Amino acid sequence: MGEYFDPQISVAIDLIRYHEHIVAFTGAGISTSSGIEDFRSPGGLWEQYNPLQYANYSVFLKKPQYYWELERAMIPRFEHARPNKAHKALVKLEKMGKLQAIITQNMDNFHQEAGSKVPVIELHGNKNRAYCMDCHTPIKRSFLTKWLKHNSGIPICPVCGGRIKPDVVLFNEPFAEDLLEQATEFAENCEIMLVLGTSLSVFPANQIPLLARKMGAKLIFINKDPTFMDKYATLRILGDLETYLPFLVSNI
Ligand SMILES: [Zn+2]
Repeated sequence: MGEYFDPQISVAIDLIRYHEHIVAFTGAGISTSSGIEDFRSPGGLWEQYNPLQYANYSVFLKKPQYYWELERAMIPRFEHARPNKAHKALVKLEKMGKLQAIITQNMDNFHQEAGSKVPVIELHGNKNRAYCMDCHTPIKRSFLTKWLKHNSGIPICPVCGGRIKPDVVLFNEPFAEDLLEQATEFAENCEIMLVLGTSLSVFPANQIPLLARKMGAKLIFINKDPTFMDKYATLRILGDLETYLPFLVSNI
């Protein structure tokens, strides 16, 4: 770890060593070193494609071509990206019997790809899933990617010709209440919540760590940059997740 060692990390190691009910709450920052940029960051995808137009639920219902144009632009970003050491460190924590669930704001499927078997609650959906809005047939990611690469326009359901909806939560789209309920239950019952790679700027997802804290959990934040919610952290570690999280887990 050299000169970048944060003394808070040994306190975090001790906390995790003596607790068994840990829940991870993850955001874009855990996937940036996998090659998935934070869409909100300067120069990120949202600068080129205004999400209020391209990833907006009511626009999608009327003019889905905007959304599919955005998906086309996302293909090269996601196609070769894989989970990184931080995702794998959570799998290791799970194998120690300490991690009860992962609540994620990411839709990249990396926790599952890394091998996580605990419940992964995907507050914003999963880019690998889509379905027909008319006949409800599940549509495979491989079908969509291939179609978008070789065609212009809007993909339609191969079964009935109906409209396809990605299983991701778009802006202004009603939130899935059951997911929020599951996340709430894990938050209420954990002893420690690891808040990893998230600026906690997206409502209502950002209420989950606050709820955990209110119910008595300790919050350990690991982020590259400070966030406006840092005042709620029991411990705050500033640094690279792909370096710090594996180090932390392997020293428990
Ligand atoms: Zn259909």
